[in-house]
Amino acid sequence: MIRFHAVSKNYPNGTTAVDDLSLELAEGGITVLVGPSGCGKTTTLRMINRMVEPTAGTVSLRGRDIREIRAPELRRGIGYVIQHAGLFPHRTVLDNIATVPLLLGWNRKKARARAAELLELVGLPHEMGRRYPNQLSGGQQQRVGVARALGADPPVLLMDEPFSAVDPIVRTELQAEFVRLQKELHKTIVFVTHDIDEAIRLGDHIAVFRTGGRLAQFDTPERLLAHPADAFVAGFVGQDRGIRRLSFVKAAEVPLRDGPVLPATAPVERARAAREPWVLVIDDERRPLGWAAVPELPQNGTLADASLLPLGPTFSLVADSARAALDSALLSPSRLAVGVDTDGAVVGVADAYELSATTVAADAAETEANEDVEAAGDRAGAGSAGGGEG
Ligand code: ADP
Repeated sequence: MIRFHAVSKNYPNGTTAVDDLSLELAEGGITVLVGPSGCGKTTTLRMINRMVEPTAGTVSLRGRDIREIRAPELRRGIGYVIQHAGLFPHRTVLDNIATVPLLLGWNRKKARARAAELLELVGLPHEMGRRYPNQLSGGQQQRVGVARALGADPPVLLMDEPFSAVDPIVRTELQAEFVRLQKELHKTIVFVTHDIDEAIRLGDHIAVFRTGGRLAQFDTPERLLAHPADAFVAGFVGQDRGIRRLSFVKAAEVPLRDGPVLPATAPVERARAAREPWVLVIDDERRPLGWAAVPELPQNGTLADASLLPLGPTFSLVADSARAALDSALLSPSRLAVGVDTDGAVVGVADAYELSATTVAADAAETEANEDVEAAGDRAGAGSAGGGEG
């Protein structure tokens, strides 16, 4: 969809902003450009809509060198969102959103109708359209910025640190909203951020840049976490990449144990006989009630007589990732994560060691798959050589 071929940007003052970049961005996906400040992310982004012209190399869009496309025409197909939204302060929200349709010559009524639609799409109430940007919160302004960029329904969106100026809670909301929106819209999005968490949360693919405008690695978030190309990328991705990787493993892949899980009707002797420090007590529909500390159990009676410690969060084997299972383990008094099915019934428990086994298993599966591909490649190579002889 968008292709950089041997692209460099040098400024007259001697700065190399981007150095020999080759990169191909898939249609309908989010590619995040991430890296420390000054590593050439914004320059790269702006070369896509010709706000910056490369010194060398070619940028093409759907196979066409963008130098052959007149800048205004090119930009009609490319929405652009920046930090602080960049809204026109003297125009109402609705008129801000209608900017591009009006530029395209739509009549006022049609442009406003489209703007109202977009306002709803980004989750803002209709009445807000009459306000001015300074009467909106930072997060709301940012949504308006996104709505405005979507005005002419462009296939491509460029977003430069769009959520960086808002507080962390609003930022998380905007990110979630953005992911939801993209599921509906399937735009080809190039997104610049310096925040690796944001990159991992949003990107289908991530391009990590290093100082000097060099591409250090281009990969899926999952592979970036599992196999950083070098020490720079590993450092940038962070020490906790093992934990982050769990977000990409389905909870269903966590190996679970059956016990120690007992019904509330079980006599306390059975809990002691399990020889475990903690027992998870369940009701007759296998829903978890809480944890019993075995050394503190009463002498006799059933587990229903014991005082239980609160469960903490459980994780869903159907809906969650292994990361949710880790939270469940860490916040549980027993340090055991509790996995439940769609009815909330306990399927089993796992500890942090078992959770770490999921990424080890993922690595093993990947190695095996790679070996299969290589072996298949060898066989295919041998086959074609044989065919050539015959
Ligand atoms: P990032 O977006 O990763 O923070 P930029 O792409 O904005 O980085 O900048 C890359 C490098 O190019 C920086 O060193 C920056 O100072 C330099 N740079 C950007 N624009 C200009 C310009 N117009 N003239 C000279 N140097 C520039």
